[in-house]
Amino acid sequence: MALIVQKYGGTSVGDPERIRNVARRVVETLEAGHRVAVVVSAMSGETNALIALAEEIAGDDPDPREYDVLVSTGEQKTIALLAMAIQSLGYHARSFTGAQMGMRTDRSYTRARIASIDAQRILSVLDEGSVAVIAGFQGVDDDGNITTLGRGGSDTSAVAVAAALNADCCEIYTDVDGVFTTDPRMVPAARKLDRVSYEEMIEMASLGAKVLQIRSVRFAARYRVPLHVRSSFKPDEGTWVVPEEEIMEGLFVSGVTYNRDEAKIRVRNVKDVPGAAARIFGPLSQAGIVVDMIVQNLSRDGATDVTFTVQKGDYRRAMGIAKEVGAAIGAEAVDGDEDIGKVSIVGLGMKDHAGVASRMFQVLADSSINIQLIGTSEIKVSVVIAESEIERAVAALHAAFLEAGASEPLPEQ
Ligand code: ADP
Ligand code: ASP
Ligand code: MG
Repeated sequence: MALIVQKYGGTSVGDPERIRNVARRVVETLEAGHRVAVVVSAMSGETNALIALAEEIAGDDPDPREYDVLVSTGEQKTIALLAMAIQSLGYHARSFTGAQMGMRTDRSYTRARIASIDAQRILSVLDEGSVAVIAGFQGVDDDGNITTLGRGGSDTSAVAVAAALNADCCEIYTDVDGVFTTDPRMVPAARKLDRVSYEEMIEMASLGAKVLQIRSVRFAARYRVPLHVRSSFKPDEGTWVVPEEEIMEGLFVSGVTYNRDEAKIRVRNVKDVPGAAARIFGPLSQAGIVVDMIVQNLSRDGATDVTFTVQKGDYRRAMGIAKEVGAAIGAEAVDGDEDIGKVSIVGLGMKDHAGVASRMFQVLADSSINIQLIGTSEIKVSVVIAESEIERAVAALHAAFLEAGASEPLPEQ
């Protein structure tokens, strides 16, 4: 008998019939002799609708405490409905909000981090033979204020519950068959991966593959929770996210990802002296703006261009700060571009193969796609390009690295 945590995303609980389908899957797991805790998202579209309501009343800067009180209600609806659906199949189930199950977080509204979970509370429900149906995405801080974990946060709730219960695995049920080599909704030739390492999945999630929230994968890696991403509409196995040692045959490149949510800012002709970068990036970080890529051009005549990317939502604020700092440090001008995106290739195999980056650049050149910025790490290469060229770039890179005929370069000697 195993203890299994199952998480069902928004589409999987999108209407009453789908909630009944989830109830049947939960009951099948019980009938196979396992104990089950279920974590659910809001019904699809619900969180977006709640956010739109908040914006209608409070513009684009609602009070964060009240925002969390509001957007957490989506999950509360689903837990009650799913508990009822399980009960109507003749089984015991009890629903729990984040507060009721002791999901403690820090105080950062809208992007709270989980601090602890009252595992005993859930275990006592499971030991009674009931299913615990838990609201994802939400918790409470030490003063009892409701907090939420950021978009896609139910994945993280589920992994945290699995870690706290020391569950045998955490199943993430979603609207695709698993983790694919790229977004299957964009590239029909995308292939499902049978296994992917935590490390690769962390990169893929952080570079735009929204199938798992990045924090959930970091959590799973830290606590060694085996993750199984699979379809809620089919019985087939999906993708296992596991430690690197368990990957027998690492793919050279295992995924192509894209992220439209970036904007670029360039501070031109900054004096190339010690401290210039600190003067630019200090105030941005104090303002809570996360800077992603940074590129400093080779200096000409003692001056240099510093270019960086931020999330689109932070663009205007970041531009304001960069202009102020630019003027103070004597930069010639500050300009920016919101119509960009980042495309990346990710793969453990890059660790021991040379020439991956140059091959990527050649593929983009052959498609006449201009590269604006480049970033690399041990297992990924990212490029910033025009937003309008993302689809073409992803398709071309997928074809070159992941479709039939894609050849692997020789391992480094
Ligand atoms: P859920 O509501 O179940 O949490 P999400 O919408 O958050 O589902 O995540 C699933 C979606 O992630 C898929 O519908 C798919 O379009 C998208 N996606 C992006 N990249 C990938 C990828 N590499 N593999 C699988 N799905 C991906
Ligand atoms: N309902 C939340 C969202 O849409 C959390 C989740 O689904 O994971 O972001
Ligand atoms: Mg999701």
